[in-house]
Amino acid sequence: MKIPVFLLLLITLSQVTLNPIVSVADSAYPSPYGIETTTSCQSTASDDLIPVRREVYGNGRIFDITHRLTPDMPSWDLEDGLGQFLWLPKSMKNGSLANNSEMKLPTHTGTHIDAPGHVYDHYFDAGFDVDTLDLEVLNEFMPFLESKMRVVCKLLVLTELLFVSTISLAFSSPNDAYPTGYGDEPGACVGASDDLRPLRREVYEDGQIFDITHQFNPNTPIGDSDEGIGQFLTLLSSMKNGSDYNFSELRLGVHAGTHVDAPGHMYEEYYDAGFDVDSLDLRVLNGPALLVDVPRDNNLTADVMQSLHIPKGVKRVLFRTLNTDRRLMWKKAFDTSYVGFMKDGAQWLVDNTDIKLVGIDYLSVAAFDDLLPAHHVFLKSREIILVEGLKLDDIEAGLYTVHCLPLRLLGAEGSPIRCILIK
Ligand SMILES: [Zn+2]
Ligand SMILES: [Zn+2]
Repeated sequence: MKIPVFLLLLITLSQVTLNPIVSVADSAYPSPYGIETTTSCQSTASDDLIPVRREVYGNGRIFDITHRLTPDMPSWDLEDGLGQFLWLPKSMKNGSLANNSEMKLPTHTGTHIDAPGHVYDHYFDAGFDVDTLDLEVLNEFMPFLESKMRVVCKLLVLTELLFVSTISLAFSSPNDAYPTGYGDEPGACVGASDDLRPLRREVYEDGQIFDITHQFNPNTPIGDSDEGIGQFLTLLSSMKNGSDYNFSELRLGVHAGTHVDAPGHMYEEYYDAGFDVDSLDLRVLNGPALLVDVPRDNNLTADVMQSLHIPKGVKRVLFRTLNTDRRLMWKKAFDTSYVGFMKDGAQWLVDNTDIKLVGIDYLSVAAFDDLLPAHHVFLKSREIILVEGLKLDDIEAGLYTVHCLPLRLLGAEGSPIRCILIK
């Protein structure tokens, strides 16, 4: 049933690329811009530039049970559906070197999760948000099954992503997520007692499950900003204002914090053809993965890649670098001195290994000096998936099973992603 809708979308997308006039009306594209016509768009209609959107992978072993986010999907209390949820503040059509979308979503849209603070205001004030939900409940560990089976069994029950509605007890009454001008009642300090302190874990099940995703909070770094993402949550409905529930809206650049890049991030023809995060291959994002330490005194060059002796057949590698030691992801100001791939390092990896998932511990896999060339090398084939901003502290280097699940944001060239490692 979904296939005709999907084909329609494809047709729409290819018409956008064939007829630049139409692109002005494209909802993902800001309307005051985009009048300039793209000159080299003839090739984009070719058959091999049609993204594959799957619901089932690996001959029926993996089922995606998450709904794709589209403007027409139902959203709580909205009669006309979700509507436009993506914008392109930075667009290659407007001269930017990359596409960088921003998303705005009511948090109870589509496939989503409720935290206790949704309907209990004292839990909300105490910080019982989605970041405190138990990954053991969401992903039961089954030691009696061999790891390959576990990959299948655990795959698609992960929470979509980690959004914090209240950051800590300290923030509970003058909460950033609370609209200014409201909520002045200081009386309700229920959240102060010890048993109302939420547990936030990085490791579960005695070191069997590691959360390698950074928490989203106002200080979460994003490229090109000294201030972090700032206030990214707003309470649309608040129990303090008489609502029956708390209900937040989320506004976030899709390349903030721990996130994934889709091919459309740096290739305009891929963007126009629809190679978005919804088209990424879940088989690549889930499976055996190597966590490796790289030499701390260098960017990731061809020489460094060669020195790591990554065996053929390894498909997923998470590179831990100086960025982790410097705790760059904990600093809200974007730091251009981070370590990343140089173009020759990316090329060496493409030419000499079977790696399809590249993970790194800062906001870009590419070193700042080779930001575009290294991204281009990785994304050209549309087979390599880049996961950026991983939290790799305090985990032994070695072999794990990785599970990474992006949001199904139709049209987005990046997405927040929840990644865990299982021993
Ligand atoms: Zn990115
Ligand atoms: Zn990137």
